[in-house]
Amino acid sequence: MNLDLPVAPLPADQASELAPLIAGLSREQLAAWCSEHGHPAYRADQVRKWIFGKRVTSFDDMHDLPAELRRQLAAGFRLLGTQIARHQVAKDRTEKLLLRLDDGEHLECVLMREPDRATVCISTQVGCAMGCVFCASGLMGVKRNLTVGEILEQILHLDRLLALDERITNVVVMGMGEPLANLRNLFPALETLNEKGGMGLGARRITVSTVGLPEKMAELADADVPWHLAVSLHAPNDELRTQIVPVNKNIGIDAILKAADAYFEKTGRRVTYEYVLLSSINDGPEQARELAQLLHGRNAHVNLIPMNAVAPLEIHGSSAPRTEEFVHVLNERGINATVRKRKGADIDAACGQLRLQHEHASPTV
Ligand code: SAH
Repeated sequence: MNLDLPVAPLPADQASELAPLIAGLSREQLAAWCSEHGHPAYRADQVRKWIFGKRVTSFDDMHDLPAELRRQLAAGFRLLGTQIARHQVAKDRTEKLLLRLDDGEHLECVLMREPDRATVCISTQVGCAMGCVFCASGLMGVKRNLTVGEILEQILHLDRLLALDERITNVVVMGMGEPLANLRNLFPALETLNEKGGMGLGARRITVSTVGLPEKMAELADADVPWHLAVSLHAPNDELRTQIVPVNKNIGIDAILKAADAYFEKTGRRVTYEYVLLSSINDGPEQARELAQLLHGRNAHVNLIPMNAVAPLEIHGSSAPRTEEFVHVLNERGINATVRKRKGADIDAACGQLRLQHEHASPTV
């Protein structure tokens, strides 16, 4: 099907004159703003309920607010200020948005449906600095961190694609970028996702995926909220991992596992290890045995990820039999492992790929 839906024309660049995205304000910040503008602080809760719980698309639709407050809000902020530049719908009803930001940069976010859940995958940076060799997002380096508002507007846009009887049940921070390299903006965004007055999603329904930055993992553990942590391992030894994930050179698997163990101890949340299976690179039975040894005795789960093809790359995903054998070797050795289901294969290409195509197609960027 691959429906590429028509979207509204994009406004001209006026980044410097644009009002802030209201989604980026914490409850406290919005309450302070309400007080400064002559309204009781509880109005902030009402406003947030409209934004995060009721899918309104304009301040005017916030019926239970005084007209004056609605006018002031519209003058001071934007709701859905990021623009949908492209909207794709796959056969399995996975939907992908390319959002255009005020400075002309783009990000991607995805909505994945299962019978009993709707998971959204969101980005935290424009591009990525980690340079993993099989990943589209890292091909052009990192441009900048996303703001709190830009992180949360992805959820607002995707939530508004759902039917009335559907709701977002899970969030995975696995889109473009390294989330732990943008903790300053990730923390407030996660808080809003978690808060009752925000999206009201339990911490267990929110997964943060990292390339493995030990100091930042410790900061995440210190936050004392048991987010589900996923670590992108991709190899059972440092020599191979450094080839696949170049930043590993200065970090090393040992430090990552220690930080993950500490995360588990502090939060009680079992850590997931992600492992993208790359044909003839990291997918042999000997590597599965080495991985089993590495994780032996740890309360860990291995999520094996079929590689999404990335157009300019020569690297390919593993075959089904090779994948099955890998799982078998792990399971045989008592390591809990599953293979991630592929979603939206016909629109997908890997996350970051749409932006990549877009950048290549538009000489102005
Ligand atoms: N930087 C973070 C989060 C973003 S990537 C991290 O490294 O975890 C989220 C997951 O998607 C990671 O496990 C990453 O390795 C994986 N990924 C990246 N490119 C992929 C591709 N082409 N196919 C399958 N998975 C990919």
